[in-house]
Amino acid sequence: MAYASKAREWYAKELESLRGQGLFKQERFIHAPQGAEIEVEFPAGSPPKRVINMCANNYLGLSSHPEVVAAAHAGLDVRGYGLSSVRFICGTQDIHRELERKLTSFLGTEDTLLFPSCMDANAGVFEAVLSEQDVMIADRLVHASIVDGMRLCKAMTDTFKHSDMEHLEEKLQEHQDKRFRMVITDGVFSMDGDLAKLDEIVRLAEKYDAMVFVDESHASGFIGKTGRGTHEHCGVLGRIDIITTTLGKALGGASGGCVSGRAELVEMCRQRARPYLFSNTVAPVIVSGALKVIDLISATTERRDKLEWNTKYWRSLLTAAGLDIKAGESPIVPVMLYNAKLAQDVARDLFDEGIYAVGFFFPVVAKGQARIRTQLSAAHERHHLDAAGAAFRKVGAKHGILGLTKNQIIEKFGL
Ligand SMILES: *Cc1c(COP(=O)(O)O)cnc(C)c1O
Repeated sequence: MAYASKAREWYAKELESLRGQGLFKQERFIHAPQGAEIEVEFPAGSPPKRVINMCANNYLGLSSHPEVVAAAHAGLDVRGYGLSSVRFICGTQDIHRELERKLTSFLGTEDTLLFPSCMDANAGVFEAVLSEQDVMIADRLVHASIVDGMRLCKAMTDTFKHSDMEHLEEKLQEHQDKRFRMVITDGVFSMDGDLAKLDEIVRLAEKYDAMVFVDESHASGFIGKTGRGTHEHCGVLGRIDIITTTLGKALGGASGGCVSGRAELVEMCRQRARPYLFSNTVAPVIVSGALKVIDLISATTERRDKLEWNTKYWRSLLTAAGLDIKAGESPIVPVMLYNAKLAQDVARDLFDEGIYAVGFFFPVVAKGQARIRTQLSAAHERHHLDAAGAAFRKVGAKHGILGLTKNQIIEKFGL
């Protein structure tokens, strides 16, 4: 027998040890479409409970938007269910080209290439455009998919301290002997919700002759005055060489991603990026829904404006309640608890109060940085936020954390 009892025992023990360390991730079953209110079966086997969702990447409330759903249905009718092919054999339809053109215009770039996901875009892009003579200089907090993509690329890897421009400048000076330099960052960092200093990064890159790569997964559609992203917010539209982003968050939330940027770099990906060449095309139903999403967000900034209002209101509610939140302007609002068990206990009590928010702790964030990451959506109405705020206040009072500083929380609960 290939899967011998020795192997089975080893894996069972490994999983048991994850449980023992409190690191075992348990899925929760949602009996509803994505939205501000969802029905969640938790723990498994219990009847679904209606709760306010404070942890989706559904920033613009488009994941179950009726017009997006209708466009997806129509796409299914006119272009079928699947293509049964990668793009370059017989998997490219007119609507793929149309979506790539629309994304190019929305992101303010020269060309765009769709990928099955942004994880795939990040896995393929570096290897397709860089080689041994080059160097990749990445912010130390970039997303895991970027780390993986860099591993697949033969260029030298280096990092700079998170958002530390002096450190980045030193690295750029140090690597002037390389053929190409590429500075790599997230636009909005997913755990803290802070924005990259893209204006300064672009200035340094131009000074030291480097390309700039930005992953805009937590920004596309809502950061910047018209929602184009961090580059719009920082006033550097048109000066980013490569943008990767996902259709799986604000832009409808289904799946798919893209590489967008300088025409030659995108074309190199079309020729060489392995997840593009060797994985199936994005399904017509998703392409059709995404086309509608781009139309909706290009026609009006109503949704991103509402999200901005919701974000400010939510931040003010938590601050008034005396909770310790990470300052910032993105709709990612982490409530800092530092202690992993406290984060889990607070999340469980919030669920009992009808609020769905998840605790994050090591290894997703650094040790001693446990938190509950709340995320706002344009689907939230004021009454949702008022109810969630009241629940946070009640649960915070129960655990005696309201009004405490970071040091006081750590003193009381340990790390
Ligand atoms: C979510 C996310 C991804 C992955 O996107 P998928 O399309 O779901 O693969 C990549 N990068 C960042 C920064 C993300 O937040």
